[in-house]
Amino acid sequence: SLKTAIVGMPNVGKSTLFNALTETQGALAANYPFATIEPNVGIVEVPDARLKVLSDINESAKTVPASLEFVDVAGLVKGASDGEGLGNKFLANIRECDAIVHVVRCFEDENVIHVDGTVDPLRDAEVINLELLFSDLAQVEKRLERVRKDKKADPVEASALEALKEALDLGNPARGVELDEEQELSVKSLGLLTRKKMIYAANVADVDLAEGNAMVEKLRGLAKEEDAGTVIVSAQVEAELCELDDEERADFLESLGVSLENSGLRALVTSAFDLLGLITYYTSGPTETRAWTIRDGWTAPKAAGVIHNDFERGFIRAETFCYDDLVEHGDEAAVKAAGLMRSEGKDYIVKDSDVMLFRFNV
Ligand code: GDP
Repeated sequence: SLKTAIVGMPNVGKSTLFNALTETQGALAANYPFATIEPNVGIVEVPDARLKVLSDINESAKTVPASLEFVDVAGLVKGASDGEGLGNKFLANIRECDAIVHVVRCFEDENVIHVDGTVDPLRDAEVINLELLFSDLAQVEKRLERVRKDKKADPVEASALEALKEALDLGNPARGVELDEEQELSVKSLGLLTRKKMIYAANVADVDLAEGNAMVEKLRGLAKEEDAGTVIVSAQVEAELCELDDEERADFLESLGVSLENSGLRALVTSAFDLLGLITYYTSGPTETRAWTIRDGWTAPKAAGVIHNDFERGFIRAETFCYDDLVEHGDEAAVKAAGLMRSEGKDYIVKDSDVMLFRFNV
C-alpha cells in the first residue's frame, strides 16, 4: 500500500500526531493479516462518506475502507545527510515512501523545549529540507559522474540529471523540475527525496486550530514556493480527541470552532490521498463493501490487479456503474433498469467512485 513518511525536527509533535493518527490501527490492522506492522508504521483509514452509504444499500456484512500507511521517521536531524551512520537509515526510510508529511511546530509553549531555543517554523522547515536536499544532491552528483564517464550512457538520463542538479545547486527542491516522461523514468530509481510530494503539517495550539496564526501563514508562503501543500493540525487536540467518545468529540471541536469532518487529522489524510493523485473505486455486495485505491488514469485491468494479480491477468471485462447513479436510483436493479450499468473492456479508464464487478478467466 502507499506510504507516507512523517518527518520534522525533534520535539515538534511528530509522535503525538503519529499516535493520534494510528489510534484506530488495531481495528484496521485486523483487515491486513499479512502486513507486518512495525512500531513506527501505522495503517490509517481514509475518511470516505460514500463507503457507508454503499454498504448500507447492499446490506454488506463487512465494510473495508481505503488506507494509507504512515511511517514515523523520528531522528532525522541536522547532519543526517553526511556520513554513513544512523542518518542514512532515516533517509532510506523516507526514500521508500511515496509522499512526505513534514510536521512543523507553530505553537508557543514554554514547557516544551525547542532544540534551537526559539519557535521559528521557517528555520525548522529549512533544517529538514536541507538534509533532504543534500542527500539528493549527493545522489545526483554520484550518478552524474558515472553517466559522464560512460560512453554508452543514456543521454536522456544525463539531461535529467543535469536539470535536477541545477535546481538542487540553487537550493530548490527537485519537485519543481519539469521532466518529460522518459527523463522521469530514467531517474526514478534514485528515489529523490525532494521530488516526493510534500505536505507541511503546521502543528498549532488548540485555539489556533480553526484560523491558524502568523507562523502558519509564513509556512504557507514557503509551501507555495516549493509546490508543497499545507494543512493545519493540532497534535495536542488530536491526542485529546482520542480519549473522547463521538459525542464529546463533536462538542470539543465545536468549542474550538472546527467541525469533525475538518478536524486536522482527517484533513491531513485526505490531503495526502489527493496529493498522491489517488482515487477510489468500490466493490460491493452482501459479503463486503470495499474501497480500493488506485492512481488516477489507471485502466480497468490494472485497477483489478489491486485486488488480485489473477484479476488483471485474466481480465475479460468489468460491469460498472457510478456511485451517484446508485444513490439516485436506490439499488443496483434500478440502475440496471435505467440502462446505467455498463460493460467496459480493457481500455476503460476507471473513474473515482466507480462501482466495479470484474469478469475474469482463471
Ligand atoms: P516529536 O519529537 O516531534 O515526536 O515530538 P512529540 O510528539 O514527542 O512532542 C514533544 C512534546 O511537545 C511533548 O511533550 C508533547 O506533549 C508536546 N506537544 C506536541 N504537540 C503539541 C501541541 O500541539 N501543543 C503543545 N502545547 N504541546 C505539544
